[in-house]
Amino acid sequence: MYPALLPINIAGEWRPGSGEEYASIYPATGEEVARLNAASAADAEEAIERAHAAFLSTDWARRLPHQRAEVLYRVAALIRQRAEMLAQLQRQDNGKPIQETRALVASAAATFQFFGAACETMEDIITPSRGEYVTMSVHEPMGVVAAITPWNSPIASDAQKLAPALAAGNAVILKPAEVTPLLALELARLCEEAGVPRGMISVLPGKGSVIGDVITRHPLVRRVSFTGGTSTGKHIAGIAAQKMMPVSMELGGKSATMVLDDADLDHAVNGVLYGIFSSSGESCIAGSRLFVARGIYDEFMQRLVAGAQALRVGDPADEKTQMGPLITARHRESIERYVELGVSEGGQIRTGGVRPAGSQFERGWFYTPTIIEGLDNQARITREEIFGPVLVAMPFDDEEALVEQANDSIYALAAGVWSRDFKRAWRLGRAVQAGTVWVNTYKQFSISTPFGGWRDSGLGREKGRAGIVQYMEQKSMYWGTNELPLAWANPSH
Ligand code: NDP
Repeated sequence: MYPALLPINIAGEWRPGSGEEYASIYPATGEEVARLNAASAADAEEAIERAHAAFLSTDWARRLPHQRAEVLYRVAALIRQRAEMLAQLQRQDNGKPIQETRALVASAAATFQFFGAACETMEDIITPSRGEYVTMSVHEPMGVVAAITPWNSPIASDAQKLAPALAAGNAVILKPAEVTPLLALELARLCEEAGVPRGMISVLPGKGSVIGDVITRHPLVRRVSFTGGTSTGKHIAGIAAQKMMPVSMELGGKSATMVLDDADLDHAVNGVLYGIFSSSGESCIAGSRLFVARGIYDEFMQRLVAGAQALRVGDPADEKTQMGPLITARHRESIERYVELGVSEGGQIRTGGVRPAGSQFERGWFYTPTIIEGLDNQARITREEIFGPVLVAMPFDDEEALVEQANDSIYALAAGVWSRDFKRAWRLGRAVQAGTVWVNTYKQFSISTPFGGWRDSGLGREKGRAGIVQYMEQKSMYWGTNELPLAWANPSH
């Protein structure tokens, strides 16, 4: 399917990277999906300089908004046309079950469509005049912007940055995670086919430790939109502060799910399982801390454990599979260490805590859905992001203590509330500190609704109509309307 060595995209030129040769590996079997040469630091420098030249020389930034929108609509249509190929590729690149990767591909198409619409309907404003002039606030593209994405939902996170950045008229340097390079490359091909001028997109697969700083420090890069771990995010934000560059950061989480004693238990069990175990828990918004009202704790946990044991772990190509493998052997080892740590801290494993048995699991990096109890909110595995299928469950006694514990985390990305009582759910939903709160549902997304985290979970918001504006600079313009010479002192303010 792929050439022997997959080319990367350096400002529209498809050629092998000049960095190390490596392979994208299918996490379910350990087989190679494609081989490529990573981008080197020199490739990154070249891509940025040529992207800047393309920003100045192509007409992309100067096209009228509805003309850029037309191209984005074509990208959406091409993604839909090739949806199955993209979904299968995403499955191989990161091992997610096919039903999830199909949903991610559909969301990527919707993202391009949404930002096409946001682009052509975006309005600048005329501000109230306070003198002999008309004042307006307009937006301009920034130039070269960088998008850095992680491995867990590549096509969705790539689209979430690429679509608004292009809609805003910028040239984009997209750096996917080293281990999942394939979808970003395909997306760039589709964008070119849809009519984005050559040079406006570069895709630089390669190690963050090799090219990350080259991208973020480069003076021509005017914004970085980053999704990934909190420590990497802080490192990038430090560089950004030195060059007065705006950034947006979608970082880690340790989200609290709260099940009240009046919850619909069937729905809540199903929602909690989906919240933590879909995507094998490799999700920033995974509901990894569970608080259950003490009065229903035993019954709820019994049902939850039975539900976790019934989850279908296995071949990501099988449409019935609910949980695939983890991304790498190393990542699985890190999850195993966390489970050992939880036990050493006094936790009891209610279910899971092992690799699944069976020949079909031998070659891949599978792990069983794991539920641990007997720990409090201070334990390390309750505080640190594990980024895997590990849930820590705790009972709670009253609402005040619940809110205090839910908010006692460096992270504040998402939270879930399960209750039939609208007023209690409203109170809790408002009291919990998180960028997104789901009430009687979990892990639902709308591209028209802003997304982001508080505290160590991030900075800024993606999605929503305002998602495009973060890739633009704001400019105020004053148009004089008086024929008379200006008064020496300005009376207006
Ligand atoms: P990392 O922070 O390690 O990597 C994310 C991206 O940053 C990768 O492309 C990585 O490249 C790159 N990178 C690494 N070092 C640098 C650097 N010095 N400069 C610039 N870029 C760099 O995160 P993970 O890949 O481990 O992803 C998991 C994390 O992402 C979790 O913490 C998770 O919570 C978070 N996440 C947040 C989401 C959100 O929306 N809030 C959504 C999804 C994930 P390389 O691959 O080479 O390391």
